[in-house]
Amino acid sequence: MTLARWRARRLLVRVYLHGILLLALAAAASFFVGSYLLKPAIEGPTRPSTAWIAWHLDSLRDQPAVLAQELADLQQRVKTDMSIFARDGRLLVSNAAAPPPPLSPEEVVRLEQKPTEFVDGIGVVALRGASGAVERYARIKYPAPGSPFGTAAAQLVAALAVIALMSMPLARSISAPVERLAQLTRRFGSGDLSARAHSERGDEIGDLARAFDEMADRVVALRRSEKELLANVSHELRTPLARIRLALELARDGDTARARSYLEDIEEDLGELEPLLDDIMTAARLDLARGAGSDALPPLRCQLVPGAELLEAAAARFAKRFPERRLDWRLGPGVPLLLADPSLLRRVLDNLLDNAAKFSEPSDAIELTGEARQEPASLEIRVRDHGIGIAAEDLERVFEPFFRTDRSRSRATGGVGLGLTVVRRIVLAHGGSVRVESSKTLGTCFYISVPASPAGAVSAAPADSAPTPESAESAA
Ligand code: ADP
Repeated sequence: MTLARWRARRLLVRVYLHGILLLALAAAASFFVGSYLLKPAIEGPTRPSTAWIAWHLDSLRDQPAVLAQELADLQQRVKTDMSIFARDGRLLVSNAAAPPPPLSPEEVVRLEQKPTEFVDGIGVVALRGASGAVERYARIKYPAPGSPFGTAAAQLVAALAVIALMSMPLARSISAPVERLAQLTRRFGSGDLSARAHSERGDEIGDLARAFDEMADRVVALRRSEKELLANVSHELRTPLARIRLALELARDGDTARARSYLEDIEEDLGELEPLLDDIMTAARLDLARGAGSDALPPLRCQLVPGAELLEAAAARFAKRFPERRLDWRLGPGVPLLLADPSLLRRVLDNLLDNAAKFSEPSDAIELTGEARQEPASLEIRVRDHGIGIAAEDLERVFEPFFRTDRSRSRATGGVGLGLTVVRRIVLAHGGSVRVESSKTLGTCFYISVPASPAGAVSAAPADSAPTPESAESAA
């Protein structure tokens, strides 16, 4: 893992290092408890005192009654077995129910070098005569210093205590912000849309908090857009509905002539409403298709479509919709055949041409161009106007759902800001791309690229024909 990735995962590194530190501390605690507290506490006082008792009892050898009494006391009060042997292995005295066997001659020789030896509660103490030589020895068995299991348990408890104590700060440093986030999420979920984490942390929890804030911002923006959509759609519906109602009332009152005079306006209104509803339905359909899987594409009903025919038909529809506008349309040589959903591509062209008309002066011409491109083989369509343009900061946003620039709102052009969203989704679903160039003085140009059909055939315009500028200027 690279350094940058480690840095981005600071919490992981912290928990990991903390775990190692804890283990080290627990091991140290266990070692300390075992070596410095338990062992001296068990063996420390026992060893020298037991050796001293052996020497003391040995000194009472010539007072057998006192010796017997003290041996009995030793057994009764501190449960210690003491057996004194002569160097040759004879048992001289003992208070044990079953005295231990004497040492072997080699073990006796070893006593010269090491006069006391204690292992796990059993010991041997050398008893020297006036010459300093080992003349007797005592074998002692004092109460077991505690089972090894007890010692291990004590060490485990020490290790666990260290882990429990030292884990607290880490656990708190993780759980506190997570709890805060959970509270925020609950607040947000219960309707407080202003709830934000504003975290400054640089670790994964900070990332989580920032992701929450971003999600909350998006949800708020989406809600605002949806409200706007509802307001816009209601606004767009109001005029035609009022006209229909008026026409109905006039017709009911018998004034059919006036009622009929409204019919044309109503028809025009409905003609405007249809594309709006189409956009809303298409956006919903494409969104639903997206929800089906992460990269799921909207369902396309693909067929082979000559690119030239698409453009020609779009120009004809435009002329019908805007008889007073001038459309200059041009086909380059070798415009390819497309494997595409013709009804969706028609929507793309109609939306772009409608926008060009909406956002430019009636006297300005609009340009529609289709040209073949190689590598990858595709059809590039350009729709250019000389209208109000789009501010640089809005260029990318115009493809967002419900986005409308301030300038376009002030023109009261209608529309809810779904047209370009639909355009982009349709083009992407065809494996194509869309981009826009615009300036406030020169107008706007949208570039659409749609891949050519893999069959590689060329549609209507012959490959060797020169570009033929045509004008779809209306007769009006
Ligand atoms: P609508 O046209 O319904 O408002 P669109 O998604 O088609 O929605 O366009 C979004 C916004 O992009 C428009 O409201 C307008 O502000 C801006 N826009 C689109 N096309 C043009 C254009 N040709 N010239 C200037 N602005 C445009």
